[in-house]
Amino acid sequence: MASVVVIGGGVAGLGCAWRLRRAGHDVEVLEREAAPGGRMRREVHGDFVLDRGAQFITSGYHNLHAVARELRLDDEVRPLRARQNAVLRDGRLEPGDYDAPLAFLRSRLLSGRAKIRLARLLWELRRHRQTLDPLRPERAAALDRGDMAQYLARVVGEEARDYLLAPAIRSTFDCEIEDLSDAFLLLVLRFVSGGFRLQSFDGGVGRFTEALAAEVPVRLGAEVTDVVTESDGARVRYRVGDRERRVLADAVVVAVPGSLVAGLCPKLTPAERGFFERVRYGRGTIAHLILEEPPASLPWYGVAFPRPEGLDLYGLAVDHHKEGVAPEGAGLVNAALTEETARRLWDAPDSEVIDCVVENLARTPIGRLHPAQGVVHRWPEMLPQFRPGYLPALAAFLRRSDRSPRLAFAGDYLVGPYTEAALVSGLRAAAEILRE
Ligand SMILES: Cc1cc2nc3c(=O)[nH]c(=O)nc-3n(C[C@H](O)[C@H](O)[C@H](O)COP(=O)(O)OP(=O)(O)OC[C@H]3O[C@@H](n4cnc5c(N)ncnc54)[C@H](O)[C@@H]3O)c2cc1C
Repeated sequence: MASVVVIGGGVAGLGCAWRLRRAGHDVEVLEREAAPGGRMRREVHGDFVLDRGAQFITSGYHNLHAVARELRLDDEVRPLRARQNAVLRDGRLEPGDYDAPLAFLRSRLLSGRAKIRLARLLWELRRHRQTLDPLRPERAAALDRGDMAQYLARVVGEEARDYLLAPAIRSTFDCEIEDLSDAFLLLVLRFVSGGFRLQSFDGGVGRFTEALAAEVPVRLGAEVTDVVTESDGARVRYRVGDRERRVLADAVVVAVPGSLVAGLCPKLTPAERGFFERVRYGRGTIAHLILEEPPASLPWYGVAFPRPEGLDLYGLAVDHHKEGVAPEGAGLVNAALTEETARRLWDAPDSEVIDCVVENLARTPIGRLHPAQGVVHRWPEMLPQFRPGYLPALAAFLRRSDRSPRLAFAGDYLVGPYTEAALVSGLRAAAEILRE
C-alpha cells in the first residue's frame, strides 16, 4: 500500500484520491480552502444554493456520470427545467437551443447567407473528425494553427462568428475568442455534436464534489508551500493556520490550477517547467442575484451577449431553472462579467459589481432586476485558456521523457476547461500512480 498525497481538493484531485483509495492506497488530500470542491463547489445562502463555479453538467459527461453512479448520486441527476438559450442581437433576444442547433437556423438570429456559410464549419468538423477527441485534445495539435476569431471569420464569416459562435463560446468559457485557438473550437463542436443536454444534480452541481470528498480523507485549510522529491520519497510542506507541517509520501499528485504548479514544485524538469510557465488562466467575476420572484422576461436557461452589443457581460445563467437551488416562486440568476470589466472592477466593492450587472441588464429586454441580495465571486484562475499554440505544447508535455520522479499532475488545463475534463485528468493521474 503506497502513501499518496494529493494537493488540491477540486474535482480533479478528489477524483484521483477516490480512485486511489478504492485501489487500496493510503491517500490524503490537502486543500487550502475551508471547504472542498474548488471550482465545482456549492454554498448555501438562506434558502438558496449557489453553485460558485461550475453551473451545469451535460449528458455527454460520461466519466462524471459513471463516477456519480458509483457514488449512488445518479438518481439525483436532473435535466434543467428550461433548455433554451437566447442571444441578444440589435437589442432583441433571439431564442435558440445549443443542444438542437437547427433551432438557431430557424430563428431570426442570422441572415440566410450567414446560415448557409455555417455548412462550411460542419464540413471542417467532418473532415477532421478522426483527429478530434475532446478528452485527448493533444491529438488535435496539428490543427492548432491560429486564433478562433480569424479562423471563424475565414470559414463562416463575421456575422455567424459574432452572433452565434462567439457568444456561445464567450458565455461558456468566459473569455474572448482571440484568446482561444481554432483547434479548441473544433474540439468543443465535436464534444457538443456527441450529445449535449444540460443537467444538474438536485440541489446543485457542487453535490458531486461533496460526495467525492465524503469518501476520502481531506485536510482542509492546509496550504501547500512546496513539494520536493528526495531519495526516500516526496516531501510536502504545508501550513495550517500559522503552523508549518511536513509529510513524506511515496508519491504526490499536484492537482492545483496549472499556472500555480511551478511555484509549488522547485525541482521540476526543464521540459515540465517550460510547459507550466505557459499555462494561462483567465481572470473572472461572477455575480449571483437572489430575487424575490423569477423575472417573466427570462424563460431561458442561458442568455449570451455578443460583443457588438457593447455590454460588460458575457452572459447570464438563469439558475432557478435548476432543481433544488431556489425556493418555489423565487428567482436566482448569475452573470459573468467580461474579462476586461472583471479586471476594471477587481478591487471595487461588491455593491459596485452588482450595480454594474443590474445596469447592463436594464439596457436589454430582460429589464431592471431588483435583487434582494447579491453575492460576488472573483476567480484569479477562472478557466484555462487553450490559446493558439497550446495543444502542441500540451502534446510535448504529455510525451516528455524527463519526468520528475514520484510526481503526477492533474487539472482541467490538461484536458479541457470543464468538470468532466478535470475529473478525467484526475482519474488518469490515479492510473499513472497505480501503474508505477
Ligand atoms: C465560474 C465558473 C463557471 C464554470 N462553469 C462550468 C460549468 O457550468 N460546467 C463545467 O463542466 N465546468 C464549468 N467550469 C469549469 C470547472 O469548474 C473547472 O474546469 C473544474 O472544476 C476544475 O477542477 P480542478 O480540480 O482542475 O481545479 P480546481 O477546482 O481549481 O481545484 C484546485 C484546488 O486546489 C486548491 N489549491 C490551490 N493551491 C493550493 C495549495 N497551495 N495548497 C492546497 N490547495 C491548493 C484550490 O483551492 C482548489 O480547491 C466553471 C468554472 C468557473 C470558475
